[in-house]
Amino acid sequence: MLLVIGLCCLTILAQSPVRDYRRAHERQIIDEFTRLLGIPNIASDPPNIRRNAEFIREMMERRGLKPQLLEGDAPETPPAVFGEWKVPGASHSIILYAHYDGQPVDPKAWTASPPFQPTWRSAAMESGGTVMQLPAAGPINSEWRLYARSASDDKAGVMAILAAVDALKAQNAAPSMNLKFIFEGEEEAGSSHLGEIIDRNKQLLEADAWIICDGPVHQSGRKLIAFGVRGDQNADVTVYGAKRPLHSGHYGNWAPNPAMTLVRLLATMKDESGRMTIAGWYDGVEPLGAAEQQAIRDAPAYDDELRAQLGLARTEGNGQLLMDLINQPSLNINGISSGDVGALARNVIPTTATAVLDLRLVKGNDHRRQVQNLIEHVRKQGFYVIDREPTEAERKQYALIAKIVARKGGYNAERTRMDHPISLAVIDAVQSTSREPIVKLPTLGGSLPLSIITDHLRTVTITVPIANYDNNQHAENENLRLQNLWDGIETWAAVMMIKVKN
Ligand SMILES: [Zn+2]
Repeated sequence: MLLVIGLCCLTILAQSPVRDYRRAHERQIIDEFTRLLGIPNIASDPPNIRRNAEFIREMMERRGLKPQLLEGDAPETPPAVFGEWKVPGASHSIILYAHYDGQPVDPKAWTASPPFQPTWRSAAMESGGTVMQLPAAGPINSEWRLYARSASDDKAGVMAILAAVDALKAQNAAPSMNLKFIFEGEEEAGSSHLGEIIDRNKQLLEADAWIICDGPVHQSGRKLIAFGVRGDQNADVTVYGAKRPLHSGHYGNWAPNPAMTLVRLLATMKDESGRMTIAGWYDGVEPLGAAEQQAIRDAPAYDDELRAQLGLARTEGNGQLLMDLINQPSLNINGISSGDVGALARNVIPTTATAVLDLRLVKGNDHRRQVQNLIEHVRKQGFYVIDREPTEAERKQYALIAKIVARKGGYNAERTRMDHPISLAVIDAVQSTSREPIVKLPTLGGSLPLSIITDHLRTVTITVPIANYDNNQHAENENLRLQNLWDGIETWAAVMMIKVKN
């Protein structure tokens, strides 16, 4: 049984000296960070992924964290970078996690600046922020934003954690637990080898808790701890028309149009309020406990402000709050493709229509079962469902054919009890770095492969994000507000100093 000792001196230890250290070393931190951001980091690009891993290995080497690359079975698997700060006499450990890979980029869409050319702006581009050069000396305005892929998601996590190590080592701070570090290289590609890397390095990666630095703080700007994440599963759905494109005048209203077939099918999956109408979608969802429900009630009300900012006259869920809705499973259409629009538009009946569906899961859902529910639903709408291209015979036999392929890398949701001793310790630590009450969320809306961790190790996971919520995470023009990095360093220095006793 672990007991937690509240540390009244934590505020002094974690805040002032850490802030002083940061103020004295801003340029050094920013220089290292922008060099890291300059290395392209898409998981499907092994040579550059390895450059990132090597760069982070050197960052950890400089800090005396005895780094090593944890490889997968195949040489092209993005390595995880592991390091350790061993504390003499400590019998417990925590692992601090961030990921160094980023979502794919479409350079044409990056109107702020190219994705791997870190660029400063005086504010968010949408608010009129203009390109800035770092001043030759003196402090940097902390409202400035750094634009680059992974500036927030999630190289900010790598940088905040390693800068916090510097700040603690500079003041000879003595953590009470062994600190382990793991920086993963394919989180955005679904962490398909994380389980394998854990199995190959079980002893190294064992810890009382995995504490995850990823995602945004609360929309209000308050610091946030998330005790869970949604699970995620993507599936591609393709429906078919004639075998070759047809003239829309000669054959329109005779040959079925797959785009129409697809949107009709998709429309059967949700009602007007956004509630899923697929049978079994909400089965097994584990209800929230009392502490979790209270935490949602305590979170700042922000939905009206968000609707105004986003230009939304209405949101889904019949008036339910965003915080409540992210504790329910959902289905999002990530994209639809059929024929062409814009300059390439032609008068044709396309041959196929495809949608990419994003199934978000909560505790109690299983990602394989949810795909099965989707398939059953499509069958019930009269479709012949396959997982490959239809044969000639099938095309002649079935009026409605749907190819459904569940993408690799799906995983389940994860949630840690808020009254777990380590949860309480992390709450104290993060609160000690903030004057405002921190926000505690039973789950983040987004997904991280945390169930992979708890499937392979006996541990718990807690997420402590640092990025600004309007960071364009996963999209073009991703950015980090500088103050979020500075706050993140203080947050993570406090997390490293949590005290848990036998
Ligand atoms: Zn991330």
